[in-house]
Amino acid sequence: MATVGDAVIPRVREPDPHPGPGLVPDRRDPQARDLRSRRPLPGPAAEAVVAPPVARRPAGRPGLRLQPAPAREMVLAQPRGFCAGVARAIEIVERALAIHGAPVYVFHEIVHNGHVVAELAARGAVFVDDLALVPAGAITVFSAHGVANAVVAEAARRRLRVIDATCPLVSKVHQQVQRYARAGRHVVLIGHAEHEEVVGTAGSVDVPVHVVGTAAEVERLPAWSGEPVAYVTQTTLSVDDTRGIIAALERRYPGIAGPALDDICYATSNRQRAVAELAREVDVVLVVGARNSSNSNRLREVAEQHGVPAYLIADAGAIEPAWVDGAVRVGVTAGASAPEVLVHGVRQRLAALGIDRVSELDGPAENVRFRLPSLHPA
Ligand code: SF4
Repeated sequence: MATVGDAVIPRVREPDPHPGPGLVPDRRDPQARDLRSRRPLPGPAAEAVVAPPVARRPAGRPGLRLQPAPAREMVLAQPRGFCAGVARAIEIVERALAIHGAPVYVFHEIVHNGHVVAELAARGAVFVDDLALVPAGAITVFSAHGVANAVVAEAARRRLRVIDATCPLVSKVHQQVQRYARAGRHVVLIGHAEHEEVVGTAGSVDVPVHVVGTAAEVERLPAWSGEPVAYVTQTTLSVDDTRGIIAALERRYPGIAGPALDDICYATSNRQRAVAELAREVDVVLVVGARNSSNSNRLREVAEQHGVPAYLIADAGAIEPAWVDGAVRVGVTAGASAPEVLVHGVRQRLAALGIDRVSELDGPAENVRFRLPSLHPA
């Protein structure tokens, strides 16, 4: 972990990598360097850098030297922010607007982030929670969370021209549920009952799917004595919590079929591992993400489980100065639907609060990219 003993570190004036509002496709900050190199990153914007406080020798007491106060630092998790499914969904709406022109209707928030939604709405996307609000024949995008069969049928009935932005990793879970249902198994879905992904997955078959969110809820499921049972999971759950629920299912239904933890997607697992490592290095963690973002909420919980206070913030404006008061190292990460421009805003806000150094932890590079669907529906 970087600590700074020298009083003044010269910094170079750098161009702002995120010069204005809007979505920035490559969310990584090109100036980020390895925390373990102990080299601070450039300041958050082209501003004069405030040097850490320098202790002064008190007059009349020669020989007594005070240690400089430790420099305060923002530490970034890696990876953080956009996953491949979110980047793909946003690109689909952007391309649909470019090809077909506004308005493009989007069923539900394309991803769970108000800033992303506002940006796309300003460009002509119209977000609806009810397909009845979409004019017959209009271009309609299904969000990254996926939809139930009933929504697909309703769209067909209204002759909507559908572009499906469901994340391929969510579609994979739909296919698993369909396979289990066809095989005659009772299907248990581990997830948060109200979440759009869970509603879509449960609705991807025409038989009942039993949703459980805790190990205690497993005990309330039917006995299904001797009958085949299978489970799948939401893609954005806590890895540790899910392990406990799967263990409860295996105790209750010996021989239950399931994908181990494979349904929890790579982006969720990577970000949870990264925030756990971050929590070990810092005094407090800020998670940039929306209140209704499942994976962002899990990041906050994981950080807290590792013993540091953690706060979920929609953007920099939500930071309470008291949260970082006295913190030498402030950890920052972002959920899979939060654009890097919001992290940049946090960086500026923390600099204004006297935390002007920035480092980034090591983490796995993510090179996942999903193919786009057809953008020319019949
Ligand atoms: S969090 Fe995972 S499942 Fe959800 S959109 Fe991203 S990659 Fe897909």
